[in-house]
Amino acid sequence: MSSKVASRVVQVLSDAYPGRGMMDMRKAEDTLIATLLSARTTDVQVLRVYPTLRKRYPTLKTLAEADTREMGKIIHSIGFYNAKAKNVKALARKLLDDFGGKVPRTLEELITLPGVGRKTASCVLTYAFKIPAIAVDTHVFRIVHRLGWAKGKTAEQVEMELRDLIPEKQWIDVNRSLVQFGRDICKPGRPECYRCPVAKWCKYPKKTKI
Ligand code: SF4
Repeated sequence: MSSKVASRVVQVLSDAYPGRGMMDMRKAEDTLIATLLSARTTDVQVLRVYPTLRKRYPTLKTLAEADTREMGKIIHSIGFYNAKAKNVKALARKLLDDFGGKVPRTLEELITLPGVGRKTASCVLTYAFKIPAIAVDTHVFRIVHRLGWAKGKTAEQVEMELRDLIPEKQWIDVNRSLVQFGRDICKPGRPECYRCPVAKWCKYPKKTKI
């Protein structure tokens, strides 16, 4: 697969799916916390509980001083809520103590925060700061394997392959557009290849027909 073709595919998908990413919460702090909460659940589930969470804990100080059992009750519907509540509390404490209450703007600093891996850090960089990064979540991982762009077995391996393949100026569009494309057409299970705008560039051997 050439960079030129990959660039074309990203452009086509970006044009087809111009909407905002679901975790694009406008504010870096919200994007960071909501993306952390979205691990192993859906963005929709997180967006259901997030407003209540921030109403109860509107500042980093209130999050850092929270009773995690009480916080867990608010977010219990999203799964792994005990661990997530502890991470959110610890993350708020670290942001206050080590970063002056601001969300850092580098991947290296972001991944020092509790519960924050490369995917969450990359979402914050792209959505909150418009800094080029590639967040490899389950949609991106599945789609780029089907397209024949990546062979990596881990999200980090795939991220490195995509960084080599896709021009840096388009990194910011990858997660946003592929997540929407993955929900709409290139779904888990049976993709709807017969209505796929990038089918002619895709190497998936089991393309579906109507
Ligand atoms: S042709 Fe099918 S498998 Fe390939 S990207 Fe399109 S929907 Fe996904």
